[in-house]
Amino acid sequence: MRREDLDQFRLIVEELFQREKEEPVVRPIPADQLFEVLDLELTEEGVNDEDFYKGLREVVFNTPRTSTKLFFNQLFAGRKSKAVLGDLLSILLNNSMYTYKVAGPMVGVEKEIIRKTARLIGYDENSDGTIVTGGSLANFMAMVMGRDAFNERIRFEGVREVMTLYTSKDCHYSIEKNASLMGIGRSQVRYVKVDAQGRMIPEDLRAKIKEDLAASRNPFFVNVTAGTTVLGSFDPIEPISEICKEFNLWLHVDGAYCGAAIYSERYKKLVKGAQLADSFNLNAHKMLGTPLTCSVFVAKDKKFLKESFSKDAAYLYQTDSDDFNLGKTSLQCGRKNDALKLWTLWKSIGTKGLAQMVDHQFHLADVARDYIRSNEDYTLYSFDDSVSVCFNYKGIDPKKICTLLYEKARILVGFGTFNGTTFIRFVTVNADNSDEDILNFFKELENFVKENEALLLSNEKATQA
Ligand SMILES: *Cc1c(COP(=O)(O)O)cnc(C)c1O
Repeated sequence: MRREDLDQFRLIVEELFQREKEEPVVRPIPADQLFEVLDLELTEEGVNDEDFYKGLREVVFNTPRTSTKLFFNQLFAGRKSKAVLGDLLSILLNNSMYTYKVAGPMVGVEKEIIRKTARLIGYDENSDGTIVTGGSLANFMAMVMGRDAFNERIRFEGVREVMTLYTSKDCHYSIEKNASLMGIGRSQVRYVKVDAQGRMIPEDLRAKIKEDLAASRNPFFVNVTAGTTVLGSFDPIEPISEICKEFNLWLHVDGAYCGAAIYSERYKKLVKGAQLADSFNLNAHKMLGTPLTCSVFVAKDKKFLKESFSKDAAYLYQTDSDDFNLGKTSLQCGRKNDALKLWTLWKSIGTKGLAQMVDHQFHLADVARDYIRSNEDYTLYSFDDSVSVCFNYKGIDPKKICTLLYEKARILVGFGTFNGTTFIRFVTVNADNSDEDILNFFKELENFVKENEALLLSNEKATQA
């Protein structure tokens, strides 16, 4: 790598950190003006270094800042130094994870993450897994394995019968999308009812399975969510696993959001029974704070992983055993090393450090809920043991307030809906935040509302700043 580029990298990073401190939320460029404000055009001729660096800085410094103390908009946040170090090195090393020949020790790095995570779930040595690009793809792999476990001829002959799968109505949207991609069809997704706290109701699951069986359809798969995307609720795994056993269905735990609870002595109760599921995934880029993307997918019985995803290729697999050629259990061929960043973080702080991060995020959510409960201008919609804190303030339209906060570059936070009610969804997934940072969010919000009362309490739609 050229010396000048490395030097520029350091300069840009240092300035970015400074700007993040001074201006945690960058002023957004309206999408329809983006190409006028920034020079993004790719041209026939390149540009000289001076113009190149200048243009690059402009783009970098105008990009939304997701690692600051006022970013609460998504289920990822913060910047874990050791994890960033690992990720930067993985880019420089530029290995591809399919074979031991080209990835060497990185294969062991990934295998160790899978092995330790599997033990924490409660799976034995017969389990195996892979790092995937995210929860959506992890869910896809689980669904394909469940399909192939139902009928091993399907991967050769295709789907020939009506197959049905079950998930709660508050699950992630990837479940339905995946159903179409894998040849099952979106209409074969059954949405099971949830209770008042957003958790799947096992009796309704059983009723829906029976209905499909009576109509000669073929139930094959149940998805439970550990941390639903809006409320952060946990479906009850144990009673659902009983139903899966009774009807011989694949059980998958989508823990993309809060599956990392398995690392915590205190909160693993929320995923009680995880070892009963056939597959499990968690996004390290959510609660564990690694850079995007890093998602850990584990299957209880490695046989199913191999059967669904391995394919011989003489031009690729030329040395070493399948156990060390990770391409045999991946959906991808070439694959970025997304394991190293989680390994560097985990190695440096230990499993106990991961547990502390998880515990701290639940603690921050308690701080937020306590504040909301003690202040009558707020209405709380979410529940204890969730890192999603859903509320409204002074009855103001949450869409309006979130949009105006964004347009005026004050706070990045989003809204969600449950049972027909829309509210602000404040997430405490940044383990670097302190109690004060959480209280500061509310102060910022309240000050903002005071300053913009006329705009927020009127019935007009929020406008572009
Ligand atoms: C975020 C999320 C996903 C999707 O994960 P990606 O990494 O964004 O693909 C799936 N399920 C749940 C419950 C999630 O919160």
